[in-house]
Amino acid sequence: MRAALLVAVLASWLTACGGRSATPDASGLGPTANLARGIADTDLAIDVTALTGTATLMFEPSTEPGGTVEIGDLAIESVRVAGADLAFAITAGKLDLALPASDAPTAVTFTYRWQHHEGFEGVSASGYTLTWPYYCGNVFPCHSDPADGTTFSLALTGVAAGKTAVYPARIPAEAPAYQIAWSIDEYTELALGATTAGTALSVWYRPGELATAQQGSEYLVAAFDWLEKTIGPYKFGPKAGTVSAKWGAGAFGGMEHHPFWHVGTAALGDVETTTHEAVHGWFGGGIRINCWEDFVLSEGTVTYLAGRALDVVAPTVGDAIWQSYQNDLGEIAPADKVWPASCGMIDVLEDRLFTRAPYMRGAFFYRGVALKVGADKLDEALRAFYTANATKPATMQSMLDTIRTVTGYDPTACANMWLRSSTIPAVGACP
Ligand SMILES: [Zn+2]
Repeated sequence: MRAALLVAVLASWLTACGGRSATPDASGLGPTANLARGIADTDLAIDVTALTGTATLMFEPSTEPGGTVEIGDLAIESVRVAGADLAFAITAGKLDLALPASDAPTAVTFTYRWQHHEGFEGVSASGYTLTWPYYCGNVFPCHSDPADGTTFSLALTGVAAGKTAVYPARIPAEAPAYQIAWSIDEYTELALGATTAGTALSVWYRPGELATAQQGSEYLVAAFDWLEKTIGPYKFGPKAGTVSAKWGAGAFGGMEHHPFWHVGTAALGDVETTTHEAVHGWFGGGIRINCWEDFVLSEGTVTYLAGRALDVVAPTVGDAIWQSYQNDLGEIAPADKVWPASCGMIDVLEDRLFTRAPYMRGAFFYRGVALKVGADKLDEALRAFYTANATKPATMQSMLDTIRTVTGYDPTACANMWLRSSTIPAVGACP
């Protein structure tokens, strides 16, 4: 995500519906909380006219009984395992399941009704979804914990005549819950070409947006090709690209809905936004953050790599983007959080981690390392980190460890300056 969206994101989390309870099933097991039981696969069938959904979640094996999903303000109509009703209980937006312990995965099917939400908290009546950071439960039963990856299947019905729904039928590698999305509008697809590895790239634009779409996408194939060759293989399928999402004029930014990431129409012509969202295929999507406190591992790394990729494939553009980053850096409040030392203790919105600080201080931390050890050497470290962690959660600390191992330079002191101190260091090489 690009943080200028901040102006439009409301920090209120709906603690919806309460109270419905169920009796224990024949086994005697009642609904049991177990948020640690992960979701391995999420299969969604959504009717965008009837506002109904069917979600089949594949729960991971668990030695402990129970299972828990976030359901926001969904109206749950049934919960079944192999066609038989499963007892459940709902409290404050969470649904607990009477799921026995099992050494095999268990498929649970939910049918439900959902509502539109504005303010980037679910499915907008304007046709797009946005559930970052923890609004997935307003669209489907989920775990919003960014560490809990799931593969996805998605099918939409009820799309109005004359409109096109752009979404992945399948996300084949584990992704955070906020990654799945759709957008429905009067789209035209412009094929941009393919990378050396064969990934086909496109941009989907709305009426009147062709020139803007071309402008924002000018370096996408080259940057994507550089990422595949330098960091590692793309994990989210053979086709990817930018979708112009009707966010409204005041929302400048994008969202990493790989393989078809969204860019708000106001930013469609912006090369940096398109490149930034593309890079999330490797960091923030391809590698998930372990806790929200590791947000800088997603946004700082992505901001750096967008600048780095453009430095290589379009140096003049890259220079201009680094200058714009430096301007942004000058506007950051020095005390804004970048890399809090806890894990799982903060609310990314309410505790104000979602500012430009993790983006820009993170980018200039990596820039400082690159100036110290060489950008090519830092590329090697980023490649090693991606190779070890792709499709899994990881921490910023393990990134520092990898940089030290691969480059021989210990970045701890530089990371403390850029990511932990409440003064903003001078731009330049790490000490
Ligand atoms: Zn981002």
